[in-house]
Amino acid sequence: MEATDRTGERDSLDPPGWAEFRTVAHAAVDDAIARISGLRDGPVWQPMPNAARARFRQPLPVAPQPLAEVYAEVAEGVLPHAMGNVHPRFFSWYMGAGDLTGALGDFLAAVDGSNLGGGDTAATAVDRQVTGWICQMMGFPEGASAALVSGGSMANIIGLTAARNAMAGVDLRHEGLDALPQPLAFYASDQVHSCHKKAMNLLGLGLNALRRVPTDADFRMDLAALEGLIADDLARGIRPACVIATAGTTNTGSVDDLNAVADLCRRHGIWLHVDGCIGALLAIAPRSAGLVAGMERADSLAMDLHKWLHAPFDVGCVVIRDRRLHRETFAEEAEYLEQAERGLAATEFLHHYTLETTRSFRALKLWMMLKHHGVARFGALIDRNVAQARHLADRIKADPRLELLAPVATSIVCFRYNPGEMDEPALDRLNHEILFQLQETGIAAPSGTTLRGRFCLRVALCNHRTQLADLDLLLDEVCKRGDLESRTAAPRSA
Ligand SMILES: *Cc1c(COP(=O)(O)O)cnc(C)c1O
Repeated sequence: MEATDRTGERDSLDPPGWAEFRTVAHAAVDDAIARISGLRDGPVWQPMPNAARARFRQPLPVAPQPLAEVYAEVAEGVLPHAMGNVHPRFFSWYMGAGDLTGALGDFLAAVDGSNLGGGDTAATAVDRQVTGWICQMMGFPEGASAALVSGGSMANIIGLTAARNAMAGVDLRHEGLDALPQPLAFYASDQVHSCHKKAMNLLGLGLNALRRVPTDADFRMDLAALEGLIADDLARGIRPACVIATAGTTNTGSVDDLNAVADLCRRHGIWLHVDGCIGALLAIAPRSAGLVAGMERADSLAMDLHKWLHAPFDVGCVVIRDRRLHRETFAEEAEYLEQAERGLAATEFLHHYTLETTRSFRALKLWMMLKHHGVARFGALIDRNVAQARHLADRIKADPRLELLAPVATSIVCFRYNPGEMDEPALDRLNHEILFQLQETGIAAPSGTTLRGRFCLRVALCNHRTQLADLDLLLDEVCKRGDLESRTAAPRSA
């Protein structure tokens, strides 16, 4: 029955009759299942024609439109032009392939409506349980704390803020940067993710306070160079505050020597932050966990659940060894947010551990995914991606037309088509052309990067749907297109 007020107008956003909503919602779920179960047959990605873009230049809607029509527009105009990271042959950047259990969790979290800034709710209990599970998965001891945030960038910002405040030597939270007795220096390899530059900017320390440590042939932080930079800073009266080690760099998947970095940090009394957005979850993979040995010694760790756990965007997590330090970095009291003895506010507010006050119920999708699939299954899928990366590297090494451009440490493979007798600019053009063709035909979607000045095709295996046949198809297509293009391109580059 239609909900009305005295003037006869609709008085809430609830559907006037529930039947229409039920029909559309059920259809949306059925369509989602059909789309995901039939993924392999469709393109990974397709360019958007102008006609499709025009749909998004409509005027501001003032009057209502039936839900079925709105959904039809989404089904026709939005969903066919998705990123494609759910597809088995999506290999770009580093993102999870999604999971319907997690998607259901996001829907149910939205319906539940709880605000994870605090409140004595089951949602808060789920959040506490999930963050506890994550600490355990990462090998952190009792007393560690964790907070779910929007992603790895925010997790890194939170970890680095805790590091800055803990290492400042003054009550930085109250006194501010002007009170610093010594400037602070942070250290990270030249492969560190760009979000750390944003963090340095935001923390008021400035990008120049992030010392870039060169990497060795394996793209791992050169620890002798790190020692040298620390000695230089000490000699200049600068306080070495934090080393950011990376467990899984974005370019090549390399992992810094975490135990050695942890030893060095302990020797110098420096905070160790690990950016594990890519590699932290290796810790739950039985055959690959050794790759991130030492990670559990970090003072803070940033990780991403929307990468190798495949949780729908967006969810990352920061883990901090010392709960008290974590809380002291962010806890702010307010008379309207007072913890109470009884009632809705009778539990510690979760916003004391993050920058946000209001937070979505991200924990539910993780709770459902971890329970439904079990950690062992996630670990096995991660091991499988690592094995697939090795298979791909082996095939590349065996083919004289292909050149591996970085050692494969985890699950990222960087290579190029190189038939020989082409100069660097020509190889750069050729491999860009191959990349564009793969993406535009929808056959596969690697991304590109440049390593030591050489452009390469970059295949990130962070996909629970990828099979070996997908990788074989990828290489066959690279070679086919490379053969064709190099034959036609040869006169131009001569
Ligand atoms: C993805 C990534 C980030 C940023 O994480 P977001 O979830 O995209 O914010 C940071 N560091 C590394 C190493 C990454 O791969």
